Amino acid sequence: MAASPTVTVSALDAGQITLPEHMFVTDADPEKKNLVPSLSFLIRHAEPDGSLTNLVFDLGVKRDLKYTPAQQNELDTWQPINTDTDCAQSLRNGVADAIKTADVAETNGLFLDPAKDVDYIIISHAHWDHTGMPSDFPSATFAVGSGTLNLFKYGAGPAYPADLFNDDELPALRTIEFPPISRTGIYGNEAYAPKHTPLPEVSQAKPPAAAAKWAWKPFGELPHTLDFFGDGSLYVVDTPGHIYGHVNLLARLGEKKYVYLAGDCCHDRRLVSGERDIGLYDDGHGGLRSIHTDTDEARSSLHRVREFVKKKGEEGIEVEVVLAHDPVWRRENAHKCWPGKM
Ligand SMILES: [Zn+2]
Repeated sequence: MAASPTVTVSALDAGQITLPEHMFVTDADPEKKNLVPSLSFLIRHAEPDGSLTNLVFDLGVKRDLKYTPAQQNELDTWQPINTDTDCAQSLRNGVADAIKTADVAETNGLFLDPAKDVDYIIISHAHWDHTGMPSDFPSATFAVGSGTLNLFKYGAGPAYPADLFNDDELPALRTIEFPPISRTGIYGNEAYAPKHTPLPEVSQAKPPAAAAKWAWKPFGELPHTLDFFGDGSLYVVDTPGHIYGHVNLLARLGEKKYVYLAGDCCHDRRLVSGERDIGLYDDGHGGLRSIHTDTDEARSSLHRVREFVKKKGEEGIEVEVVLAHDPVWRRENAHKCWPGKM
């Protein structure tokens, strides 16, 4: 029997931001701030003709920090911000301390040109520390969760005025949204109402062949997953709560091993383990809020991830969960950064 298809996954440095701990976890020191990575990931998929398709998940922080004026004001909360190494540079040159551990002979001619070699970019969600520099990737097709493009243009409710986004953040003619998921109820304090943007009549997007059959299906404890390449090697996972359109990726590395790229499902590994809960802080209007638009929904999403990992573990399948902003993971895993791999 032929082995089931897999992908390779490598982490990429894409800037660093600073997170005040009390905004993310319960029982935090109110003064403590952590400098954390904003990670991107390179995912490589082998095609039947032997060629490799390159997909990048998230683009991190903008190298030039050229954000809209309202976004600039927001940046103050997350200083210091460091963009010495951004996503494009990590693809072009490899990640600094990963290079030291890599065999130089083997890395010869291996690095990628962001302008030519990246086929797909999936952005986990619309926040500024994940959208990076789309102009560095003029040949890539972008894919985002349903509702994301509308959010860039019009914002969503009082928590997200339109000026907190850039209305042409992603190239309109090369971007697709994953299919919408029908769901009703309250999201934060608003009715749940992400607006789907269909593919424009004239489009230069080149989605994978499998896109014609994309449909959300359950995978274990995850109710909505979408088979990106159509061969079971890479799933897009709907993970509501953080903001409209938030998606994760589940990558199959081998018979008994997956990597789960959790984006901003949470911002501290103690929430994955269950040691801590989601932190709440002053919303500026006499109430409390969390970093997520819908705290209960975000907690449910994280719970499903935890259950998925546990069940797979019982079947003898390891699932490594990697957050977008985990400094401990980054410190311990230079060898899993490009040109290294997981
Ligand atoms: Zn983030």
